[in-house]
Amino acid sequence: MLIGIDDTDSPAGMCTTYLGAVLIYRLKEAGISVTGQHLIRLNPNVIYKTRGNAAICIEAEGNTDEAFRIAAACIEELAEFDEKKTNPGLVVSVTKFPVSFYLQAVTGFCTIEEAETVCRAAGARVKKWKNGRGIIGATAAIAAKQADMTWELLTYRDPADKGERSVETDSLFRAEEETFPHTWDTVDTQNNCIVCFPHTPDPVIFGIRGESPEWVKKARGYVCSQKPILEVIYHTNQGTDAHLLEGTIASLVDGCSYRLSGVVANTPETGRGGHVSFLLSDASGGVRCMAYEPTKGFRDIIRSLAPGDEITICGSYKNESINLEKIRVITCPEIVRQRPPLCPTCGKRMKSDGVDKGWKCRRCKTRADEPEIIHEPRTISPGWYEVPSSARRHLAKPLCRGIPPK
Ligand code: ATP
Repeated sequence: MLIGIDDTDSPAGMCTTYLGAVLIYRLKEAGISVTGQHLIRLNPNVIYKTRGNAAICIEAEGNTDEAFRIAAACIEELAEFDEKKTNPGLVVSVTKFPVSFYLQAVTGFCTIEEAETVCRAAGARVKKWKNGRGIIGATAAIAAKQADMTWELLTYRDPADKGERSVETDSLFRAEEETFPHTWDTVDTQNNCIVCFPHTPDPVIFGIRGESPEWVKKARGYVCSQKPILEVIYHTNQGTDAHLLEGTIASLVDGCSYRLSGVVANTPETGRGGHVSFLLSDASGGVRCMAYEPTKGFRDIIRSLAPGDEITICGSYKNESINLEKIRVITCPEIVRQRPPLCPTCGKRMKSDGVDKGWKCRRCKTRADEPEIIHEPRTISPGWYEVPSSARRHLAKPLCRGIPPK
């Protein structure tokens, strides 16, 4: 059977991944064998999300009624019902759902009714609390299927503990040093900060992301922290670019994320708050692309783009601009500029002598027909560039996992 859960947390506490870890433990205690556990991230632009728009699917074998009862009891005991935006959903199915529902939920938007239709068609058992919006994520987690997956090892503290986490910083840097690129986003070595634990009052102590259960366990072995009450390794769509659609500028839909190619149309500008932006154009139109302040050094890459550069960008389209996650520079030709030549007689910069009439020295009246040609070297070269670990979205595929398709 497949057990999907979602929408159990609030900004003040809880986390659906923790509830999933508790549920795995309780199912096993009841003699139900757990054969798989999946942490599925969905469209990062959904406004109902608390933090990272995660949902959980647990694969199990045993009595379905018993599993449904245990899961419902877990949600009733642990979910943050007082929070207005918390609307838990539980789905238990003995058949897999069409992958199309997952693809819609990870790249776009779904309704509660659409989730109910999928569940009904498969004969699944459903329970909704409050408005029951959580069944969208629960259904999508059950429907999720893709070839490229990664892993995350998560450690948890008592949910009542809402203080500072105790994790030795040096041990996290050591874990990254010993296991990167097989694990990633434990720390941000460019900005010298920790990435793998939240600063919110939820039960996660830290999480290690990597390409296999073996690698995340190896990295975890280096980490010294307060003693976790639970640890779990989830199979996950994190770090896979599952949210990206191929698109053209004219086809952009608000709240969806894209990989698209075009030409830089103006010199990038630094705006208020240090955000850097430029216009990208393709045959269908133009769109503003943004590198926000938290992307730190990535903004220098964006600043070094020039009009005419051919690039591919990845990011979410929201409020009429694209929030950049990574870019590929395809061509960045040398910039060639002209300016009035220096006077060969007296060395003073010459002035234009009128349209198509060459240049003339105001001081000694010498004339010249050719301008001075300036070859400006580029500081950027073709290749992929990404935001630092500390600014990376859960679903964005880090470049250490391989270069994206063209
Ligand atoms: P947690 O990490 O603890 O799960 P969260 O950030 O994942 O918190 P939720 O509290 O689960 O956020 O809220 C997200 C809500 O949005 C859920 O009710 C989920 O069912 C719903 N949802 C997820 N994806 C979509 C989508 N593509 N379209 C519409 N609703 C969605």
